[in-house]
Amino acid sequence: MGVVRFASVALTAPPRPTTAEVEAELTEHVRALAGPDAVPRPEQVAAVQAVVADGRRTLLVARTGFGKSAVYFSATRMLRDRGWGPTVVVSPLLALMRDQVAAAQRLGLVAETINSSNTDEWDRIEAAITSDAVDLLLISPERLANQGFRERVFHLLLEQPMALVCDEAHCISDWGHDFRPDYLRLRHLLDELPSWTPVLATTATANQRVTDDVASQLGSDALVLRTTLDREALHLSVVDLPDDAHRLAWVSEHLDELPGSGIVYCLTQEQAGQTAEWLRLRGHACEAYTGGTEPEQRLVLEEQLRANELKALVATSALGMGFDKGDLAFCVHLGLPPTPVAYYQQIGRAGRALQRAEVVALPRPTEDAAVWRWFEQVSLPPESTCDEVLLQLSSSRPTSVPTLESVVNLGRSRLQTLLKILEVDGAIRAVKGGYLLADEGWTYDRDKAERLRRLRREESEQMLAFADRPGCRLRFLREALDDAEAEDCGRCDRCLGTVRTTDLDPELVAEAGRHLRAGDVGIEPRRQWPTGLDEPKGRIKPDAQARWGRALCRVGDGGWGPMIDEVLTGDRLLHEDMVRAVAGVLKRWDWEQRPGWICPVPSRRRQGLIDRLCSGLGQLGKLPVHPALVRIEDGGFQADQANSAHQVANVWGRFTVDPDQLPEGGLLDGPVLLVDDECDSRWTLTVAAHLLREAGSGPVLPLVLRSR
Ligand SMILES: [Zn+2]
Repeated sequence: MGVVRFASVALTAPPRPTTAEVEAELTEHVRALAGPDAVPRPEQVAAVQAVVADGRRTLLVARTGFGKSAVYFSATRMLRDRGWGPTVVVSPLLALMRDQVAAAQRLGLVAETINSSNTDEWDRIEAAITSDAVDLLLISPERLANQGFRERVFHLLLEQPMALVCDEAHCISDWGHDFRPDYLRLRHLLDELPSWTPVLATTATANQRVTDDVASQLGSDALVLRTTLDREALHLSVVDLPDDAHRLAWVSEHLDELPGSGIVYCLTQEQAGQTAEWLRLRGHACEAYTGGTEPEQRLVLEEQLRANELKALVATSALGMGFDKGDLAFCVHLGLPPTPVAYYQQIGRAGRALQRAEVVALPRPTEDAAVWRWFEQVSLPPESTCDEVLLQLSSSRPTSVPTLESVVNLGRSRLQTLLKILEVDGAIRAVKGGYLLADEGWTYDRDKAERLRRLRREESEQMLAFADRPGCRLRFLREALDDAEAEDCGRCDRCLGTVRTTDLDPELVAEAGRHLRAGDVGIEPRRQWPTGLDEPKGRIKPDAQARWGRALCRVGDGGWGPMIDEVLTGDRLLHEDMVRAVAGVLKRWDWEQRPGWICPVPSRRRQGLIDRLCSGLGQLGKLPVHPALVRIEDGGFQADQANSAHQVANVWGRFTVDPDQLPEGGLLDGPVLLVDDECDSRWTLTVAAHLLREAGSGPVLPLVLRSR
């Protein structure tokens, strides 16, 4: 973050409590928070002692449910009682913030939160800070990046002897798997605070490397307090099954044997949606919760799970660190996350306030690895891509994101992540209207990128081996997190020598297979050309758009997915079964008017496949095939283009319609099936539909084997 300047240089530290006062007051506070019999844990005493009485910057590594918030609530109470300014808590967990505002009141603390959803309250909160009426201010790391917040609110805080708490501090370290670029701003802030500022960093999940990194960023004298990572309630087991049909059948058969309510984790949104639907069909109260779920709906679903109105949420990692339900009784993983740390973190949501919680993993060895590779590409942009971005920026005139998108071959969210990394690293500067080059001498740290890549690979190899490796499951995870006290848990399937049954009714497995295969995938028409191009631009005229299309399957789905993957890589021929399955998609299609002819999309790589598909469909559906679209120029492969501007530029002007190949009269006016092998960005289909409509065709209905 730019330079934080202190308005008042003469700021001095108010008095601190003595060791005896810390012990007495902490006990009193813990009782107010957790009940009259509560006793502070030794690590809680040590942490408050270090931060408040001794003035040492401290990193507290403690498992979820340890009572980290009691530490900073109590510390804040003690400091406020002695004339200190407010405590600023930086946390990525908005959900947790809401809970904390309420909990803090039990110590008489006034907690406020400043986030993008309450800008109308900023004036009031600023006034309260100025009049010293706020004890705890909870903000997200993204706030630190916000110019308005820095100018309006933060300088007010810096004029007082504030304390700083950094929650989920592993996000500061880029060694951590959920490193957040915004946390880098916290590093700069730490450098700017007076050395006597009470600073506490907390995390539940950090291995030795991340712990060392975070501690060194706190300062050379930082104290690290670690507690055991054992979770006495968790009972881990692994169920090894051959494919997704078996896995779905297993979950629907055994869900009711699992106690209470829980979470069924999936890796992708599609998988979560499909799984939730299957479980509902089998009579379970389940809902999907993913990155695609609207914020209001998320709150409703979280509430329903908290109230045990749902047996399970079928969730991706979007169900974040902040979700807290003490009596969450089980965690099932349909597919595993890419690192032991992430897995430990997710299963750690179960059994926080229970004697026993079940943790069941159903690994998908091949499918999972493919999804992990995608995750890795997003988090670690290669040097060539960084150079490409920097080349587009000048130091005098800002370049906008849409302009960058038209020249840099990177998807929108990946481009934005990259820009943030470059900005926080000092290479570029965000200004009104886009980005400027900030440091001509900035270079890509190749060694570091290579080390990170190697580390990610090691971690994912550990996870691939998780199911098969001998020995205690929890011990393995604790060792992966460098827990020095790791020992056999005595509760997992390995320790007990038990094996969960994999016997399943073949009928049920077949039905699960049909469910996976019957989920016809809709293809939504594009309605707007991307920005950043000279031509085409703007809104696509409604009568030049494609209609909703259909796909037989999605990338990575467990139904037709594996077989279609082999067809697309050329390892398997398009079999009649598959053509029949596509014809089944046609049969179930709720169109207004049946299409009268088929138009194949020209393809350089898979023309034979597309032709076979078209002629097979033509025979089954008694539809003539007219190859009216022709390629006039060879471009790059569409699959290599990563954003909309590139994808449209790659197909625009490369196809044309051959009028001699169009059907005659009434047939031409009616709907046409536009058949391709697969669709990803949908731009090929959009451009092809546009050309056919311009050439006088009726509505265009895209149909592909596989969609993203
Ligand atoms: Zn064990």
